[in-house]
Amino acid sequence: MKTRPLLPIVLVLLGMLLPATLLPSGASADVAGAAKRLDNLRDRPQRLRQFLLGMPKGTDLHTHLSGAVYAEAMIRWGAEDGKCVDTVTFVSSFPPCTGTQVPLTAALSNTQLWDQILAAWSMREFRPDAFSGHNHFFATFDLFGSAFSGRQGDGLAQVAQRAASQNVQYVEPLITPQFGASLAIANQVGYDPDFAAMHKAMLDAGITGAIPAAGLTATTALSRESDLLGCATSEPKAGCRVLVHFDVQVLRNQPPAVVFAQLLFGMELMKADPNWAGMNMVQPEDAAYSTSNYTLHMKMVKYLRSVYPDENVTLHAGELVPGIVPPSDLRFHIRQAVNIAGADRIGHGADLRWERSPDQILGSMRSKGTCLEANLTSNEQILRLDGKRHPIRDYVKAGIRVTLSTDDEGVSRTDLTSQYVKAVRQHHFGYRRLKQFATDGLRCAFLTPAEKKAALADQKQRFRQFEARFPSR
Ligand SMILES: [Zn+2]
Repeated sequence: MKTRPLLPIVLVLLGMLLPATLLPSGASADVAGAAKRLDNLRDRPQRLRQFLLGMPKGTDLHTHLSGAVYAEAMIRWGAEDGKCVDTVTFVSSFPPCTGTQVPLTAALSNTQLWDQILAAWSMREFRPDAFSGHNHFFATFDLFGSAFSGRQGDGLAQVAQRAASQNVQYVEPLITPQFGASLAIANQVGYDPDFAAMHKAMLDAGITGAIPAAGLTATTALSRESDLLGCATSEPKAGCRVLVHFDVQVLRNQPPAVVFAQLLFGMELMKADPNWAGMNMVQPEDAAYSTSNYTLHMKMVKYLRSVYPDENVTLHAGELVPGIVPPSDLRFHIRQAVNIAGADRIGHGADLRWERSPDQILGSMRSKGTCLEANLTSNEQILRLDGKRHPIRDYVKAGIRVTLSTDDEGVSRTDLTSQYVKAVRQHHFGYRRLKQFATDGLRCAFLTPAEKKAALADQKQRFRQFEARFPSR
């Protein structure tokens, strides 16, 4: 943990005051009443969703910014920015539009094209066939990338508004900062199995030179979000109250020197810029470089954590099921992310039951305080893992701190509330457990100690207000 500017803390403290003024006089928190209400709604999905929509959910800790944006917005922004779309492949691109490409504006008046793009850029209408959910899901990012380019602040405003509408206080969107700069340094320096030597060579080659540009990415997005939501006006939108820190995305399906350069850049960026709170490794774990070099990557993280002990790390680990990889690759990803890399949190952890000695892994996570970001909709769509096949109950039973997150709410056409609905309908959790997901989320968040204390106090107040609506007597 490290110190951060005072402004976000002041905003959080201000936020704490608001719910108190809205609390009905004489009302008191009543967990039993809320728990009973949830049980009554368990088999009434529409009303259950309404109940869970208003429930304080704390945070969404696993949300890729580009994946969090709904494709409708990307089409509109791409059209405004003069971008193109290929009518055969649905790849977006920068102008001029040539060959089978047309301006994205065409989609605004052509319903068939609009529907085709939405289907290609998200899981809308997706039906599993030979081209699996896994492939369709990950392919979307290559299609909408150019349309979304330059619109991160717009995306952030959408994410913050959606979060606020679901009683979420804090989000930690994932962005890939300055990949080109890390790639250039990696190509210049090359790979060295001596991590300390490669580390020094990359610093000497000027890898920190891209920190100001990465800083600008964050401040530009935050300032655009603030403008769009009117945060400095007398009528700020609800999203202004949602605190944001970014996590650095490291692309893992790259040659070793490129992965190391990105990890190193991420550490230096977090050290220099408080807008960047954590680091994560992304892209499919089953891709060629990702699988061949998984253990090497964990050792890189371990080395860098020893040099930058104050920086936060969360890792996608175990986003796998049998059939996606050979059995031997199913046996160690969570274990190594926890025991070698020493991640503060892991994302997914879906292949737990196929790993070697799951009980030992759970024991390690509990003793180290490793958190789990569970992404129920994402696991269902990409891995076809749902209901009793999903290991979320194993983590809960083992006393691991678990929080629910969306992964890619735009691509998946979902939201955080839907994850809570699934936790009730598919996994039969009750109100007290959902409340624990919400509080553990904030406990596992990459906030400064002061921010965390303020956020937890704010959450406590929000729960008092929410539960007062359901008196048990
Ligand atoms: Zn993810």
